Amino acid sequence: MRIIGLTGGIGSGKSTVSAYLREKKIPVVDADSISRQLTAPGSSLLPAVRILLGDKVFREDGKLNRQAVADIIFNDKELLKSYEELITNETARRCLEELRQLDEQKRWKAAVLDAPLLFECGMQQYMDENWLVQADPETRIARVTARDGISREAICDRMQRQMSEEKKASLADVIIENSGSLEELYRQIDRQLERIGNEG
Ligand code: ATP
Repeated sequence: MRIIGLTGGIGSGKSTVSAYLREKKIPVVDADSISRQLTAPGSSLLPAVRILLGDKVFREDGKLNRQAVADIIFNDKELLKSYEELITNETARRCLEELRQLDEQKRWKAAVLDAPLLFECGMQQYMDENWLVQADPETRIARVTARDGISREAICDRMQRQMSEEKKASLADVIIENSGSLEELYRQIDRQLERIGNEG
């Protein structure tokens, strides 16, 4: 089974690519959703969060108080680093475990890991190939504004804090260009899937 890492900056179209791949019956592991589950009630990671940040980040019902977490970590660089490491390492571990399980089923020719922080976490090294979705900045800003209703400034701020597009491109094996229509996007994906199908 060929394992494909899928990434891209804010509003580049990762989720749109993932949705299309799912339609094509290709399993997609969603790193963001796995990361969110880690701090959901009952998660086995919560005791480690309690050790790191203390009882004060938990409500009486045992649920994590996300605002309290943010208040602490964004005022303490060391804790921010440790907390991010805890979450990203465990997210990466669980993503790879899910991919391993898919591989064991021997049902799929390819599987995809949708990970906005694929390169930042160094996960690209575990993939057979890495796809980067790109679109020109103005198109991304317009699409995210229409999708989320947030300000241009907020989007630009996030774009600036992300790894540069040049650096990402240098780590990618395949660039999916998504400044055009959905049809053009889907055509590129079809082409890649055809290549993978033909490879073996
Ligand atoms: P984020 O990183 O913010 O989660 P993303 O990379 O997952 O974003 P999408 O949510 O897939 O990006 O796309 C951003 C928005 O642009 C969505 O509303 C999506 O429907 C729209 N979109 C994506 N590609 C195209 C396209 N080729 N033509 C028109 N709209 C598009």
